[in-house]
Amino acid sequence: MAGTAVSGRLAWRVARLAEARPETPTARTLVFDIPGWPGHLAGQHVDVRLTAADGYTAQRSYSLAAPADGDRVELTVQRVPGGEVSEHLTGRYAVGDPVEIRGPVGGWFVWRPADPAPVLLVAGGSGIVPLIAMIRARRAAGSKALFRLVYSLRTPAERYYAEELRRPVAGLDVTYVYTRELPEGQSGIPRRINVATLNTAAWPADFGPTTYVCGPTGFVETVADILLALGHDPHTIRTERFGPSRD
Ligand SMILES: Cc1cc2nc3c(=O)[nH]c(=O)nc-3n(C[C@H](O)[C@H](O)[C@H](O)COP(=O)(O)OP(=O)(O)OC[C@H]3O[C@@H](n4cnc5c(N)ncnc54)[C@H](O)[C@@H]3O)c2cc1C
Repeated sequence: MAGTAVSGRLAWRVARLAEARPETPTARTLVFDIPGWPGHLAGQHVDVRLTAADGYTAQRSYSLAAPADGDRVELTVQRVPGGEVSEHLTGRYAVGDPVEIRGPVGGWFVWRPADPAPVLLVAGGSGIVPLIAMIRARRAAGSKALFRLVYSLRTPAERYYAEELRRPVAGLDVTYVYTRELPEGQSGIPRRINVATLNTAAWPADFGPTTYVCGPTGFVETVADILLALGHDPHTIRTERFGPSRD
């Protein structure tokens, strides 16, 4: 029976685009209808498969951006210049068009609403996607777990979920770190996340947070090294790598 459940969960399903909205000038949130979707946990991802008229296929992973909601599944895709799949999903791909989706995938980089431990989220660029799913799952479940988000990105125009993260939420602190351009009127200089950033904006190690770090490979490795240097237990640090760093 367990085998049936696993193969059922990993079967390709035909999904149709139900809604799309621009998240930034180069990122698009896509809401799919997937009949028979089995549900998922915040932090998990899916595989998306495109098939061309000549039968050529391309497959990529995308994190789920929102907690389970019946047959609805939400992703946010960043356009990578020249990218085979992301350029299509952020461009011509239109409401009603099909795509194949398989999942949910992943059992370690997940947050469960019943977990009361404080949570530290560290995002680099589009690495915010599975972390907003955790923030949304916390809200949907009425969880009182304390959350802190440290979100690194190049410029203010690249903020995903900007309105949502601007609204004050009890128990959720948000810190932005800009690497190339600061918001108008903000003093200081653009910088990358460093020891001082996490020393001030993150939970201290002895507070016992579970930490989720997601973004380009180089970003994730740097942040994990800083957390270890600050005394965080390696078993409490969960990472998800999206691919090469262009920053
Ligand atoms: C578990 C997981 C979850 C992911 N979740 C998301 C998500 O929620 N949103 C999202 O936008 N992406 C996500 N990604 C990245 C995604 O899978 C693709 O790698 C990305 O969309 C690029 O695919 P492409 O076909 O457009 O580019 P490709 O045609 O594969 O590559 C084009 C060029 O871009 C470079 N490149 C490839 N991937 C990246 C990248 N991630 N960053 C920078 N340069 C890159 C390649 O080296 C190549 O030079 C996730 C990846 C993983 C492994």
